[in-house]
This record gives sequence, C-alpha cells and structure tokens, in this order.
Amino acid sequence: MEKGRKGVRMEELLRELVEAPSVSGYEDDISALIKKELKPHVDQVRSDRIGNVIAVKGKGSPKIMLAAHMDKIGLIVKYVNKDGFIFFDKLGGWDERILPARNVVIHGSKGPVAGVIGCKPVHLQERDEAKKPIKLKEMFIDIGATSEGDVKKAGISVGDHITNAGTLRKLRGSRVTGHGFDNRIGCLVLLEIAKSVKIFKGTLFLVGTVKEEIGLIGVRGSSFSVNPDVLLAIDTTIPGDVPGMSSEEAPLKLGSGPSLEIKDQVSVVCSQVKKWVTETAKRGKIKIQLNVSSGGATDASIVPTVREGIPSGAITVPTRNIHSPVEVADMRDVNNCVKLGVKLVESAHRYF
Ligand SMILES: [Zn+2]
Repeated sequence: MEKGRKGVRMEELLRELVEAPSVSGYEDDISALIKKELKPHVDQVRSDRIGNVIAVKGKGSPKIMLAAHMDKIGLIVKYVNKDGFIFFDKLGGWDERILPARNVVIHGSKGPVAGVIGCKPVHLQERDEAKKPIKLKEMFIDIGATSEGDVKKAGISVGDHITNAGTLRKLRGSRVTGHGFDNRIGCLVLLEIAKSVKIFKGTLFLVGTVKEEIGLIGVRGSSFSVNPDVLLAIDTTIPGDVPGMSSEEAPLKLGSGPSLEIKDQVSVVCSQVKKWVTETAKRGKIKIQLNVSSGGATDASIVPTVREGIPSGAITVPTRNIHSPVEVADMRDVNNCVKLGVKLVESAHRYF
C-alpha cells in the first residue's frame, strides 16, 4: 500500500518537473521547484551566482556530490517578421527533422503563449523538396498573430524561450512518456535520494546544475566550489531496444535497471567510481546495466578536468526517443536508480 502511494507521489512530482518550462539558460522555474522540494530534507540549500542549486546534508568526510542537470533542450525566439511569424533557433541537441507540426509554448513577459511550428504544405513542395528534411530556417512559429505588433502585444520578444506543449502521460504498465525527461528524471532521482537517505558518513551535496545541454557549463563552477571527493552525475541515457536499432549499437534495455556509464563521447568512468558503483549494486542486489556508448556526455564527463581532477561517473535511466517531445521511460528503472543512489551515498566512505 505504502509503495503504491510512493509511486503515485513520484509520478506527480515528475509531472511537475516536466511542466516546469526551464530550458538551458532559463532555469528559474525548475530551480525554485527543486529548492522547495529539497528544503525539508537538507541542512541548507542555496543558489550560486550562475543559478546552480546547491544543497548540503550531513558533515565531515568524504564529500559526495550528486549532480543532476536541471535544464532541458528547447528553442529560442530569434526574429519576428512583419506578418507576425516567429523564427527561432535551437538550445541543445535537437533532431531538426522532428520539429515541424509541434505544439509549442513561448514564455514571454505576459506568460505562456500557445503556438505551432509550421512550414510550407506538402502539396506545394517540389518533388525533390518533399524528399528532403525541412531546414530550421524554413520553419516558423504561428501564434495566430496578424502582425509584428500583435506578437509584441502578446509579450513575446527576441530571446524568449520556447518549450514543447504537453505534460506527462502514462503508457502501459510502469512506462511513462513526456518531454524533457532528459533530465527531469535525473532531478526526480536526486530529490528522492535526498528524501530517502538517512544514515551515512560524510557530507552530501545535492546539486542541480544549469546549462548542461549547451556545453556542460554549470557543473564546472559548482564542482570547483564544492570540491568533492567524488562526483556522481544522475542523468538519462540511450537504450537500443526499439526497431531500427541493435544491441551491437546500443545494448541497454528499458526496464532492465539503471545504467553505469562506462564510456561516452568525451570521457571514461574513473576506476574507483566504477568499483564503488558495481560493488554497491551487487551488495544491494540492484541490477544495473553497463553502457559503453560512442555518443553523448554527462556532467560527470568534464569534472576530471576541474581543479586537480575530481573522480566522477554517471548513473543513468534508459530513456527511449531521447531529446524528443515523446521520451519514454520505465518508472521501475527510476525507482531502482533511487535505491542505487541511496546505497551509494551510504557506502561512499568505504571508497573515498
Ligand atoms: Zn541529460
């Protein structure tokens, strides 16, 4: 019964996190939500000068830093033409082919404004044109405005951020879909660890980082100031269990547990972190997957270059259709990632 209530509560919190607009560089909404959720469970929580949220729990050694990036990929207003159509640029790694025909929300000075991404209709495209993906510069957002002045009246100006419309939806069983799971799922895991972890040795720093999707930016300053003995990033990763992909390409599966990122495009896990995570998972009887990937990066990838080098690794939740408006995850993987995170905090003193 208790477990059921916890599951519902976690899904509700994920819904709130998904609905927070905050794309890279515009993290105010999600940062406020994360601070509110963390406050009752930590000794102190603050934001640093560039917006990273840093919460502290416990005291002494070792210093353990858990980092989940708070931003998600999004779009940004670039130019408004005289007829009231809005042109935009990308924030983060979008697949441009999936942008046309999206419902979006523009976050202007007068609150959220609904819009759609339009392009030239298929009927009027030349035969060759129809075979090629539509370019970003050929897409526009239509908010129903009749002029440039009308867009201004709606409170929209250059630099405003744009998100996908829609919220969390339940699929079959324990699977859910939504946008921004990368990395609202990591934020959820971070918050649940903060709530669940009780007895451990050392100081736990729970950090929500900014601007990960546009260059792993927030973690550099926050890890420098915390100066932890170890940093564990919590993020999402790419499973290969969908049509058109193979295990040779991406061996992870949804529902088979959280993953330890062994290698990504930028870095390789530090050996002591690998030992800590694999042994703790084994002792705690938590099934994990090991990911050797040729793509992507996490906050953990960059911190071995901070100060004299901070040992790091990343635990991740497999997420299908990653960086799209219909990401799919399994709440069982989320739960097991929380369990693993708690056990890692409890066992960190044996390794660092
Ligand atoms: Zn991510």
